[in-house]
Amino acid sequence: MLISHNRHMDFKPVCEIKMNPHPSPQNSYSAPERLSFPFDESKNAWLPMLLDTYFLADQGVFEGIRRQIAKNRTLACDKGCSHCCRSHTTIPVYPLEIIGVYWYCIDKLDREQKKLLIEPLRSHAKGDACPFLYQGNCLIHSMRFLACRHFNVFDTVCSEGEDAFYTRRADVLTPIKKYQDDALAKMLPFHDIKGKSQRRAAIKSGWIHQHAQVLQEIDWSKLADRISAIAG
Ligand code: SF4
Ligand code: SF4
Repeated sequence: MLISHNRHMDFKPVCEIKMNPHPSPQNSYSAPERLSFPFDESKNAWLPMLLDTYFLADQGVFEGIRRQIAKNRTLACDKGCSHCCRSHTTIPVYPLEIIGVYWYCIDKLDREQKKLLIEPLRSHAKGDACPFLYQGNCLIHSMRFLACRHFNVFDTVCSEGEDAFYTRRADVLTPIKKYQDDALAKMLPFHDIKGKSQRRAAIKSGWIHQHAQVLQEIDWSKLADRISAIAG
């Protein structure tokens, strides 16, 4: 299963903390910050778990990129680059992430952004480009999925239709396992897996991967209906 991805946005983020820019190849990027929605987090016990998950993943990606740059590699991913959002066909999405994206689209996107999503979500069919991609921008960038955060490519921008994971694996960032496991473990309490040893066993066995769905195979029309009821 593919465990990666990355990306871009021009739309203003609706989180309450300024998004860090995409890391730049010039080594001038700043460390990631945790997204923060204090009111929503106080009302939704699952939300801090998901935001902690994304923060740990972002920290791992930051460190992984830093190590590669130290070896004179250049990050190819940059704002506006989105071939991967169209060419990848097996992006895993975990149950908590689906709840998160429903919440974000319904509660956090503004009316204009909501309207842009309705038709792509409603008409999305298996194998289509990611329905959250709009004119080369990720409409849910702040809450993009773990796989999207993890997928980073070095040195050469992907060509149209290329999935670098298969065409040149050596150019694709390998997430640092400790960060990746810790990020996944943050989601486990949502599944009532709470104890340290329980969580460790679940990570070791890959339990959580068995509950992931493929982004391109999810019926997104239900989300379109929910958004349409508000903004349509
Ligand atoms: S370089 Fe490849 S993986 Fe990176 S943003 Fe561009 S298309 Fe996506
Ligand atoms: S959610 Fe979709 S558009 Fe956004 S980064 Fe992931 S694949 Fe790309």
